[in-house]
Amino acid sequence: MTTEEQAIESSVDSTVPNAGATQIAVENPATGEVIAHVPVFSPDEVAEMARRGRAVQPAWAALGFEGRSRVLSRMQKWMTDNAERIIGVVVSETGKAYEDAQLADWAYGVAAAGFWAKNAEPYLADEKISTASPFVQGRKLVLRHSPLGLVGVIGPWNYPITNSFGDCIPALAAGNAVILKPSEVTPLTSLLLLEGLHECGMPEGVLQVATGYGDTGAALIDHVDMIMFTGSTATGKRVMSKAAETLTPVSMELGGKDPMLVLADADVDRAANLAVMYSMFNGGQTCISVERVYVEEPVYDEFVAKVTAKAAGLRNGVSTGPGTADVGAMTLPKQVDVVERHVEDARAKGAKVVVGGHRGHAGRGGYWFEPTVLVDVDHTMACMTEETFGPTLPIMKVADAEEAIRLANDSPYGLSASVVSKDLAKGEAVARRLEAGTVLVNDVLVNYLALELPMGGAKASGMGTRHGKGGIRKFCQHQSILVTRFALSNEPHMYPYKKRVTQGMQKAIRLIYGRGKRA
Ligand code: NAD
Repeated sequence: MTTEEQAIESSVDSTVPNAGATQIAVENPATGEVIAHVPVFSPDEVAEMARRGRAVQPAWAALGFEGRSRVLSRMQKWMTDNAERIIGVVVSETGKAYEDAQLADWAYGVAAAGFWAKNAEPYLADEKISTASPFVQGRKLVLRHSPLGLVGVIGPWNYPITNSFGDCIPALAAGNAVILKPSEVTPLTSLLLLEGLHECGMPEGVLQVATGYGDTGAALIDHVDMIMFTGSTATGKRVMSKAAETLTPVSMELGGKDPMLVLADADVDRAANLAVMYSMFNGGQTCISVERVYVEEPVYDEFVAKVTAKAAGLRNGVSTGPGTADVGAMTLPKQVDVVERHVEDARAKGAKVVVGGHRGHAGRGGYWFEPTVLVDVDHTMACMTEETFGPTLPIMKVADAEEAIRLANDSPYGLSASVVSKDLAKGEAVARRLEAGTVLVNDVLVNYLALELPMGGAKASGMGTRHGKGGIRKFCQHQSILVTRFALSNEPHMYPYKKRVTQGMQKAIRLIYGRGKRA
């Protein structure tokens, strides 16, 4: 195994031991209380769901863009009407802060329902293609996109709306039936939103939710026409390898280790605010959170002082409503172990913990890790090379932007990155040299809210994109149509081959294509 592969494999495997389980006990990670039980769907049940989905899909597709868009627009309204209920369920099964659930789950879901209701048709309408080839002039060329049929969406636990239900919306808008396998840790939000879609007029069976562990997800791969997977890189590899058996196409949104580069001319206040906000947002359990920071030497001390002051003031606690806590619990119990391992490994190798650094809180149930800031770190430490996925912010001093770029690219991952600089041209020039699917200058994460802008990972962070045209076309079968309207019944190049015609054609081709300049 290469070091890069080791870094990926040692990322957490969230598959909870589940042999023979028929039910999942869903916990509130902020308290440790069991709040619900949901069934584990067996492979046979998944097969039955697939039959059902395929049976209802043609009628759903036949509704056309307008009919489907009506259901999704009603869903947008339903989600706004039921804001408190939805945010409440997200908070209860993730342990995140109310604001994190509001902004990055509920608000995203509301926007996405309306976005795909409106844009499915323009993104998927027949496209007339014009060609420069002289051989097919006068023909009609059309590219069309029809639904694939049955799409499987497998999601993680960190954003139960955004990264699970959110990917079902474009698949449904395109006319597919969908089976969603939400994370075993956070299945309740998906079940609530399914209820909402039924209230909004979506026929039974068009979207189905298959709750269960990894085995349920693995079974799904055998029955669908496409898999949209969001989760860790290690599981993504397993999913892709299984999908290869049936040549099922996949779209993969995987792990990350996003760097932030703070250049010497940065607005240091903004840089520090961005770093603290987006390393701790959602308890650091965001695929595109700031996982590591490289700061140019002249502003390093000032940056660390500002980050330290800000991070030390964060309220880490149970969120009971708006404004009650800044950083919530850790959703996945095993993730606390990963964060602790990274912090302890850094400490043992000489890093200094300037804020936080410990798991749990005396007298409190649930799963917790303090917002933590580390300095004196380097790339021998797991906190700088492996996905931590927790409330930590390791900061490394670099000599210059060149060193920052080299270190930022020294990773198997390439999801997102950010650069902070007042010189926008320089910021953008640095951005273009970073190996990441998305790079933000003077910002972090907000690209996700621009549903027109494709978002996807480079390197081991994934393949395919969500959002934009590609974010819905991937749920479609593409068909190219060529129609010849006027033609001779036997064209000159057809059988039998004739020397005179062949030589004439060669002359014509040389005339058309042979006029380029010689090198
Ligand atoms: P995970 O890979 O452990 O699980 C993801 C989903 O896959 C779960 O529903 C799980 O039950 C299912 N699963 C597990 N084994 C399976 C198998 N063999 N076949 C099919 N399905 C299987 O990920 P997680 O811990 O839930 O989520 C955290 C990870 O997700 C992090 O690495 C994070 O970076 C990543 N993530 C990426 C994005 C993105 O857009 N790139 C967004 C959110 C999260």
